[in-house]
Amino acid sequence: MKNTNGKLGVALLGLGKYATEQLAPALQETKYCWLAGIITGSSQKANQFKQKYSIPGENIYNYDNFDSIKDNPAIDIVYVVTPNALHAAFAVRAAKAGKHVICEKPMATTLEDCDRMIDACIQAGVTLSVGYRLHFEPYNQQIIQLATTHKYGYVQKVIARDGIGEVHGWRLNKQLAGGGALMDLGIYCVQAANYLFNMSPIAVTVQKHDNTLDEVEKELTFQLEYPGGFMAECACSYSKKMNYLHAMANNGWFELEPAFGYAGIKGKTSSGDMHFEPVNQQALEMDRIAQAILRDKASPVPGEMGREDIQILLAIYEAMHNGQRVILDPVIQASATTETGGSINGSSFQVQS
Ligand code: NDP
Repeated sequence: MKNTNGKLGVALLGLGKYATEQLAPALQETKYCWLAGIITGSSQKANQFKQKYSIPGENIYNYDNFDSIKDNPAIDIVYVVTPNALHAAFAVRAAKAGKHVICEKPMATTLEDCDRMIDACIQAGVTLSVGYRLHFEPYNQQIIQLATTHKYGYVQKVIARDGIGEVHGWRLNKQLAGGGALMDLGIYCVQAANYLFNMSPIAVTVQKHDNTLDEVEKELTFQLEYPGGFMAECACSYSKKMNYLHAMANNGWFELEPAFGYAGIKGKTSSGDMHFEPVNQQALEMDRIAQAILRDKASPVPGEMGREDIQILLAIYEAMHNGQRVILDPVIQASATTETGGSINGSSFQVQS
């Protein structure tokens, strides 16, 4: 593995809003990785990035010549930040070029694509991580800690809601997005419920859905059912602003609102307010992933975790379409470890007969 000044070189692939406004600035704050290169379909963005971040010309690629990145020792990690359905093809190409991969959420839009990505990274001997930034955010880490140490007893119920006012562009295109509010925002509710219960759901149901957008769902209310009868009540929306996470335990409660944003997260418990200094979530995420690579350790947010979430999202879509409770069967799968040490097991799903 090559690196510069002890830092791994990251190439951002897809210079859209998230890469431009969050990831590239965050890479100016990272200690274990740096913005070494870019892969873009836009020569205008290539020039802007080149100037703004002093990116050497030999580290700038387009989607046609991207595979030659394999010969570039300055790039250790390719971070895929394209529309969801394109993650898999780019991640596989990056792995085949011998680069570690970070892929934005949702990891992919089909389980077949998740498997292709995982297999390609295993074959190439590189790590695959998903951009689950909240695993590195202090308020979310604190509630994971409260939940897994049973500070207020066992978590009995989780309520999670994530919604934004409106969306545009590829997010409304089923082929590129794979789905609507659930794929984009509901995934945070699923993640949160899993890390608070520290378990995988065994069944899902859909209570309400609004499919008034042309191709993807606008709103969805769903329930995740966990072993022991514990429930997560979740809602996601492309028309209502919501950002809330609540955990009810035997002897108290804790909650975040807003819960899932890049900044400004606030938290309280049944015994008082939480206080943490602001952090750059994306910088922490990339640094933790880079540290894991440098130390030859497993990713804290591995592809298997991303795959499990896709299994759950697809089960929720199944429940939405057929109106039935869909059971998720536990399957043998690598378990994913959260930053606070919890274990999230894999599941597959089937429609209850
Ligand atoms: P944008 O539409 O702003 O950017 C996507 C970029 O992908 C484009 O600018 C383009 O980059 C590239 N691209 C390549 N092929 C296509 C194509 N066929 N159509 C459109 N764009 C293409 O999206 P976002 O930055 O908002 O989202 C990108 C990914 O990041 C998504 O998977 C999303 O879910 C995830 N995301 C994650 C967040 C988080 O908090 N973890 C927050 C926001 C997004 P170029 O012009 O350089 O070729």
